[in-house]
Amino acid sequence: MGAPRPLRPGPAPGRAGAGSPYPGGVLEELDAPLAPLTTLRLGGPARHLVTAHTDDEVVAAVRAADAAGQPLLVLGGGSNLVIGDAGFPGTVLRIATTGFALDGTVLELAAGEVWADAVDRAVGAGLAGIEFLAGIPGSAGATPVQNVGAYGQEVAQTITEVVAYDRRADEVVTLPNAECAFSYRHSRFKADPERYVVLRVRFGLEDAAGLSTPVRYAEVAKHFGVAQDERVDLRAAYAAVLGLRAGKGMVLDPADHDTWSAGSFFTNPVLGPEQYAAFLALAAERELTAPAYPAPDGHTKTSAAWLIDRAGFGKGYGSGPATLSTKHTLALTNRGAATTEDLLALAREIRDGVRAAFGVELVNEPVMVGVSL
Ligand SMILES: Cc1cc2nc3c(=O)[nH]c(=O)nc-3n(C[C@H](O)[C@H](O)[C@H](O)COP(=O)(O)OP(=O)(O)OC[C@H]3O[C@@H](n4cnc5c(N)ncnc54)[C@H](O)[C@@H]3O)c2cc1C
Repeated sequence: MGAPRPLRPGPAPGRAGAGSPYPGGVLEELDAPLAPLTTLRLGGPARHLVTAHTDDEVVAAVRAADAAGQPLLVLGGGSNLVIGDAGFPGTVLRIATTGFALDGTVLELAAGEVWADAVDRAVGAGLAGIEFLAGIPGSAGATPVQNVGAYGQEVAQTITEVVAYDRRADEVVTLPNAECAFSYRHSRFKADPERYVVLRVRFGLEDAAGLSTPVRYAEVAKHFGVAQDERVDLRAAYAAVLGLRAGKGMVLDPADHDTWSAGSFFTNPVLGPEQYAAFLALAAERELTAPAYPAPDGHTKTSAAWLIDRAGFGKGYGSGPATLSTKHTLALTNRGAATTEDLLALAREIRDGVRAAFGVELVNEPVMVGVSL
């Protein structure tokens, strides 16, 4: 199991500007490039970039930005952000807090902890519950925001509490799981992005005597030759997920442009009964059988990757500086010289093509900053 590493390399430290509203201890840089702080390597500069290393610094920096009437963007690992080429005209607050505390099966992570490293350490300690979320980039504090999930697990299954600064109430609050409004790639934090800054996340993990949680994902079950809902060796599960993810370009590798992405660019569409029937009819016209998974409230989830591929956008699609990953149709990538506008042009082409072919509206998963699809 590896040693912790910084989220991403950042700009060189600079001095706070004269008359800076930010408190001592918080590092401030002016007109700082944001592209190097995102996994897409896209986006213009931040008017102010402040980096906070403790919860108190985070709260103080948020209060200062709010008091100065500055727009605020909270930044973790930049792995789920599409920032416009014009940059951000306010304060970007980089969360660089640290803290990994394990007490029995209870894990508390500071928001700035590297998620992939925390999973690695939890698995190393023999605890199950987040092993299938191995290799997902970004910070622990961002995981509740979009209820991070993969391979049949999502953080909503193990998060017990989220400690956050509530900007509206101007106080630190502890929200139990039931108050986080978790759903598929969504939460209270994503629904109300101006309100909460996550400081700490607590998880209830499981000591399953060296075994994983029950396997829920067909690809993983197939990999191990087990039936769904069976448990497998915990460390083998962790290693298998890392291998599967790497094969799809879903583990960061600076040398591999297929990983210069924000992961899945579109969420899997969740369709109501009428929408689903209309979609099935269009798919049948093309003699295609679409993947379908039951979702809550009589809805059906289908696969965005399948839709993109069948609408004619195969792996590697595109001839410009932004293309689909050569390993996965769901990842839009920067081949090195792209701008955010290049990426968005590709995203719009794909969204429109899928709508024309199947009548389904794809919705972006990453958070758009200063731009829209
Ligand atoms: C190669 C690759 C693979 C990926 N695979 C997956 C996957 O399998 N499953 C999945 O769910 N996601 C996946 N993602 C998306 C991404 O890694 C996750 O969404 C991750 O949780 C984002 O964390 P971050 O720290 O990078 O957030 P950022 O990109 O920095 O921020 C994302 C959003 O969260 C907000 N935010 C960040 N930190 C906080 C905080 N402390 N308090 C309040 N708001 C905050 C930001 O303001 C922004 O709105 C992948 C991304 C990449 C690049």
